Amino acid sequence: MSETYYELMRRQGISRRSFVKFCSLTAASLGLGEAGAQQIQQAMQTKPRTPVVWLHGLECTCCSESFIRSSHPLAKDVLLSMLSLDYSDTLMAAAGHQAEAALEETIKKYKGNYILAVEGNPPLADDGIYCIPGGKPFVEKLRHAAKDCKAIVSWGSCASWGCVQAAKPNPTRATPVHKVITDKPIIKVPGCPPIAEVMTGVVTYILTFDRLPDLDAQGRPKMFYSQRVHDKCYRRPHFDAGQFVEHFDDAGARMGYCLYKVGCKGPTTYNACSATRWNEGLSFPIQSGHGCIGCSEDDFWDKGGFYNHLTSIQVPGLGGAEGTADKIGLTAIAAAGAGIAAHAVLTALKHKGSKTANDKVSKVEK
Ligand code: SF4
Ligand code: SF4
Repeated sequence: MSETYYELMRRQGISRRSFVKFCSLTAASLGLGEAGAQQIQQAMQTKPRTPVVWLHGLECTCCSESFIRSSHPLAKDVLLSMLSLDYSDTLMAAAGHQAEAALEETIKKYKGNYILAVEGNPPLADDGIYCIPGGKPFVEKLRHAAKDCKAIVSWGSCASWGCVQAAKPNPTRATPVHKVITDKPIIKVPGCPPIAEVMTGVVTYILTFDRLPDLDAQGRPKMFYSQRVHDKCYRRPHFDAGQFVEHFDDAGARMGYCLYKVGCKGPTTYNACSATRWNEGLSFPIQSGHGCIGCSEDDFWDKGGFYNHLTSIQVPGLGGAEGTADKIGLTAIAAAGAGIAAHAVLTALKHKGSKTANDKVSKVEK
């Protein structure tokens, strides 16, 4: 029988105490609590290890960069120990023919039982010549590795949606993974890049429980993508009070007001940034004074300027801005636009006859 995760960790020199700590931390990041920690412990001590093959297509490697910066060093070490044993173009020690041989060996040995993680996407134009790893078009490598995998994890917005390399007119026909591989379960973990803790959380969940987490209508794990950046944004009270930054150098900006009017896409973006934050929970773009550009949403690169706000969106009469990703699904952007329009009306009524915070700020400026 193959070794378990626990046996593997012990072999890698990880102590029992560290193993228990890892299980607790992972359960906390997945929102599973103490019972979840025990479940993870049990699974890792008894289940055989699931191999992971990690491929790179047309991309910039920022997903790998994010992954290896997961905040807790133990989580990072444990996960990298699990992953690097099999195949990862950039993280493994082998290169060239040796690396390709490792891929073939893993596919053969673990037929039907390995997870295929894909970073980047295949360009389909001109027989795939715009991405040639190991001497062959990436699309061939992807199809070959996908044929016998158990499930696919599409890392980042490139694999999930196409991302900037698919921007109009998309000369290389960069195509997201789910449009090329249609007969395997696919979990999308979008973002440019995705948050490190989201990536490690998803991998740990799949590896320990041997199943995919619950997904929303677009194939994203609900545990990390069921809320908008807007829902947990610490600037939200300013949005609700109608206090907006009008220019990046105005007094509203200095007071930390809402960035909606300078292009923030937080109201239409499903991601964990405002809850988990980045760099060990230190900050996230909005906290640094820049609006969310919606990097985890489909087509974010072709939706107009990053600094244009969302008021031109048509009111669809569906869902509403306060619905979940599941309810709103593909109509999220239009629905949130309706919510914002309604909110703007309410705010205008509320402030009718009195000075808005920005008026007051403007006076201070004068
Ligand atoms: S619009 Fe952006 S800055 Fe304003 S509350 Fe929403 S997410 Fe935060
Ligand atoms: S705040 Fe928005 S643009 Fe920034 S990383 Fe999160 S989802 Fe992407």
